[in-house]
Amino acid sequence: MTVPLRCPVRGCGHALHHAGTSQACAIGHAFDVARSGYVNLLQPQDRKSKTPGDTAAAVAARRRIVERGIEGNIVGEIAAFAAQVTPATAGFLLDAGCGEGSVTMALTVATGLEAVGVDIATAAVDRAARRYPGAAWIVANADREMPFPDGTFAMVASVVARRNPAEFARVLGPDGVCLVVVPGEDDLAELREALLGAAAGRDRGTAVEAEFAVGYELIGRRTIRDRVRLDREALDDVLASTYRGARGAQRDRAAALTSMEVTLCREALAVRRRSG
Ligand SMILES: [Zn+2]
Repeated sequence: MTVPLRCPVRGCGHALHHAGTSQACAIGHAFDVARSGYVNLLQPQDRKSKTPGDTAAAVAARRRIVERGIEGNIVGEIAAFAAQVTPATAGFLLDAGCGEGSVTMALTVATGLEAVGVDIATAAVDRAARRYPGAAWIVANADREMPFPDGTFAMVASVVARRNPAEFARVLGPDGVCLVVVPGEDDLAELREALLGAAAGRDRGTAVEAEFAVGYELIGRRTIRDRVRLDREALDDVLASTYRGARGAQRDRAAALTSMEVTLCREALAVRRRSG
């Protein structure tokens, strides 16, 4: 089964069909399929900078965190939660903001759905396509209108990524489930305390419930926690790959750390699209 794609050119929206080494619509808009297998459907109006999304350095840091298994237990529990809330229907799973694709693959194994990963960062999607050639990988801006017809997906996942509830609802099929994972209140609390002098986090899970209050019903919520020891290199990678990147005095304090045991915490929420 191949995920249906829609031409991303503004005002077009015709179906894309595989034609040689590209994807093209009936009007003649064509998009190259990269050698690694991903297709870049990012339009000029969808990018804010020349290399949107995570920088190559942040992607490399994420990759090292994945390869060292730092978030292994966390990802395992997110996947187990996904398996519990998977709709009975077979079909596609969209990972919006898929990064280097390892979480996408954990989710597809757990749910039995077919993986489709979308991210705005070409470097991350290229890596995902090389590593996991069995899935569909697309460069696009998941914040905007995504290049899929209405009702394409059985599940849409947003794992520590941007969220677009209205667009997620459009691409979800009837009874489709949206899985949203955000950092929990005490995520990296020890590190924040060492760098900022305060560990107070935000209750992002409840904010997500409010974001998805219209058009969805909450079907599950779980707090997932693990404790891991980060060495100097892992600390650098965590700092480089999160939005909490250290600056100035914080960077000096970070440089003084040799290793640290930290809490990893995620709030996982599942909401079902309301029909009608
Ligand atoms: Zn077109």
